[in-house]
Amino acid sequence: MNETVPTVPAGAARPATNWAGNVVYRAARLHRPTGVAELQEIVAGSRRVKALGSRHCFNDIADCTADLVTLDGLPGDVELERSPDGAGGIAWVTGGARYSELVPRLAEHGWALHNLASLPHITVAGATATGTHGSGNRNGSLSTAVAGLELVRSDGELVTLAPGDPEFAGAVVHLGALGVVTRIGLRFQPTFQVRTNVYVGLTWDRLFADFDAVADAAYSVSVFTDWHEVTQVWVKARTDEHDVAPEEFFGARSATVPTHMLPGTPVENLTDQLGLPGEWHERLPHFRTGFTPSNGDELQTEYFVPRRHGQHACDALRALAPRIAPLLQVSELRTVAADELWLSPAQGGDVLALHFTWLPDEDRVRALLPEIEAALRPYGARPHWGKLFTTGADELAGCYPRMPDFRELVRRWDPRGAFRNDYLDRTVAAFG
Ligand SMILES: Cc1cc2nc3c(=O)[nH]c(=O)nc-3n(C[C@H](O)[C@H](O)[C@H](O)COP(=O)(O)OP(=O)(O)OC[C@H]3O[C@@H](n4cnc5c(N)ncnc54)[C@H](O)[C@@H]3O)c2cc1C
Repeated sequence: MNETVPTVPAGAARPATNWAGNVVYRAARLHRPTGVAELQEIVAGSRRVKALGSRHCFNDIADCTADLVTLDGLPGDVELERSPDGAGGIAWVTGGARYSELVPRLAEHGWALHNLASLPHITVAGATATGTHGSGNRNGSLSTAVAGLELVRSDGELVTLAPGDPEFAGAVVHLGALGVVTRIGLRFQPTFQVRTNVYVGLTWDRLFADFDAVADAAYSVSVFTDWHEVTQVWVKARTDEHDVAPEEFFGARSATVPTHMLPGTPVENLTDQLGLPGEWHERLPHFRTGFTPSNGDELQTEYFVPRRHGQHACDALRALAPRIAPLLQVSELRTVAADELWLSPAQGGDVLALHFTWLPDEDRVRALLPEIEAALRPYGARPHWGKLFTTGADELAGCYPRMPDFRELVRRWDPRGAFRNDYLDRTVAAFG
């Protein structure tokens, strides 16, 4: 099956919905500029404007009441800029490009990104704006690869930002609040190969007897659970770091057939497992590029807790298992390395990401979230900006030491509140 994200018709009067179908965009108009000058005019002339990426967020972060812009009409191909030492470089893409367009270009030249999310269909600009991540103790979120940004501010001015600029660390995870990104640069490195092995039968006791060792056993590790038990562990090892995959993994045994994280679901859309070596981009995402990851029949939530609180946070969620189970498809635990991007969920320390794929019953999921958030509050849980959560601006400000700086940056760069929307009022509250 082909990727089925609904395509926003060019020149459409109004856009449709997000990927999951739970958000109907309210904007009056959808624009598809074919040049930066046209985009600058749209932005400067709009009362309220937001950019749309591939619409994979589960909340109203990309919504607004006046103008939406989709950037897939901006001209420009992937440009690879080699570093002087030749050991890597920066890949530049336009504001509408998806990872699935960038990745083959890098691979064909023998280059790699440090990590990918579970699916490659998302845009680079949209994913990095929300701190989207993969897994791995040594891997920062996808936003940590950003090495440059060009964006149109609300006055229509095109500004360029590089890592040395004082606002750079504040502008990478920007939640769409600062401008429309027209061009974005990601650091690349030499290619590498990965093999995926799935293990079943890991116990909670073995997992938490030495969680660091489990998470550090390979380049990228994902633990799946229904909160009653650990259901699977996906171990993605670099072939240049590990010769062979062990038959046994902390007491768990290697699966002998390809295994879906949702038991009973066909496996054709998954990237290869069973230890078959493959290029980084054919193994790090759970889902293949040419296939739809699912039919959109799901909702997602995710919270990040400091790694040192991981076990206690999991214990708190295990105690809620009877409440969670009726709505849950599967949960996934991943680690993300610390960074210093102001609004990154991993800002200031290594985190454990606690992810929930829900049945598509938004009312019941929303009713349950405050219980989960209360259980995780003692651990300073930060929600994924692109998924469902109910945490409000006051609590978020307590979780993010640089939130006052971000609010100030928003007011300075967008004094007329053109990029403001209900989501930002609930979460950032830059305008009081
Ligand atoms: C099936 C599925 C799997 C997922 N897996 C993962 C995962 O493994 N890890 C993870 O962390 N997340 C995951 N997510 C969440 C997803 O990565 C994020 O929601 C991401 O932000 C989606 O990017 P997008 O291009 O769809 O952005 P959108 O949802 O379209 O937009 C997100 C935000 O970015 C802004 N934006 C988009 N483009 C621009 C631009 N050019 N300029 C300025 N602002 C812009 C929008 O205005 C909005 O504020 C998953 C989501 C789905 C549906």
